[in-house]
Amino acid sequence: MRSFAYVVPETVDAAVDALRSAVPGTKILAGGTTLYDLMKLGIEAPPAVIDVHRLPGLDGIEAGADELVFGAGARMADVADHPVVRADYPALSESLWRAASQQLRNMATVGGNLLQRTRCAYFRGGPEFPCNKRNPGSGCAAIGGHDRAHALLGGSDACIATYPGDWAIALLAFDAVVDVVGPDGERTVPLAELHVEPGDDPAREHTLAADELIVRIRVPATAAGRGSTYHKIRDRESYAFALASTAVALTLDEQGVVGECRIALGGVATRPWRATAAEEYLPGRAMTPENARRAGEIAFEGARPGNYNGFRVELGIRTVADAVRIAGERATR
Ligand SMILES: Cc1cc2nc3c(=O)[nH]c(=O)nc-3n(C[C@H](O)[C@H](O)[C@H](O)COP(=O)(O)OP(=O)(O)OC[C@H]3O[C@@H](n4cnc5c(N)ncnc54)[C@H](O)[C@@H]3O)c2cc1C
Ligand code: SF4
Repeated sequence: MRSFAYVVPETVDAAVDALRSAVPGTKILAGGTTLYDLMKLGIEAPPAVIDVHRLPGLDGIEAGADELVFGAGARMADVADHPVVRADYPALSESLWRAASQQLRNMATVGGNLLQRTRCAYFRGGPEFPCNKRNPGSGCAAIGGHDRAHALLGGSDACIATYPGDWAIALLAFDAVVDVVGPDGERTVPLAELHVEPGDDPAREHTLAADELIVRIRVPATAAGRGSTYHKIRDRESYAFALASTAVALTLDEQGVVGECRIALGGVATRPWRATAAEEYLPGRAMTPENARRAGEIAFEGARPGNYNGFRVELGIRTVADAVRIAGERATR
């Protein structure tokens, strides 16, 4: 067993101070449902963890007229079940309900959820597998290997690992931002700029510094919230990661013509993926099965399948088409 220091600050300021003076490799600990997992697997070996799970003021949920504000320490279950989130932003609620299990959702936080790491079996499997993310420069066992769950979009010659989270996909569709606090004060990072593609450095997964603490996630209010859904296809209907998922939010006019349209993809890309061209296709068009299908096809135009994941292109197209239909049924005219 590896020993590590366990630090429990009592305020956000104290947490930032602790991070500023922390030894390199120190990690922030929230619910621990990812971090402890990775420590047990030997993938993460922090010399210290700074526990922010019960920091006062970090678990608020505010549903205002202009924006929704979620403290980074709010539990997934509490956000999923919030009455305003359920009624006015069903894609946000569903992205959390369809993630993990009830026990995990009771423990895990919406801040920690954003920074979960890939479920690539080679990455998690052990040091005997070449993996540029786990052991930079060692190669990638998934490329040319068993890639059924790997990314169709955003991969590189170094890594094709899928970003596994659900919540970030819905947040991306709603143009959410993340407020972070570090030694130089507070800054705001658009969700779209939080995660990065692997490129030639798959070990780098996001744009936060090690001493930056996510304090809140903010979602601007939009009329497209009610006409939204998070549609997730997986090997079993519960407690499984997405083979393909999508968050769709849209508005319709009285004739059933699409106005605003937002589409993000999950389970198919190396980072939360905004399907911009598909979003641009639907506005001004009628809500028909053909147009919904076409939006899905456009979303997957750049897909690069490998050995065993080609079936997920068609699966992804159908996922988008179904989600557009569901969102259209929910959108008020
Ligand atoms: C069996 C299983 C099934 C799962 N299925 C799904 C699924 O279907 N969909 C899905 O989306 N997720 C799934 N998950 C992942 C789960 O949702 C995440 O483990 C959880 O959301 C992480 O939150 P946490 O609070 O426990 O984070 P932790 O494990 O404490 O932290 C995770 C990471 O975030 C960092 N971190 C945490 N809080 C902050 C902060 N405030 N600021 C900066 N960095 C921070 C930590 O340093 C760490 O790197 C599953 C997990 C398990 C174990
Ligand atoms: S896909 Fe990425 S995480 Fe998986 S083995 Fe290759 S380099 Fe490692």
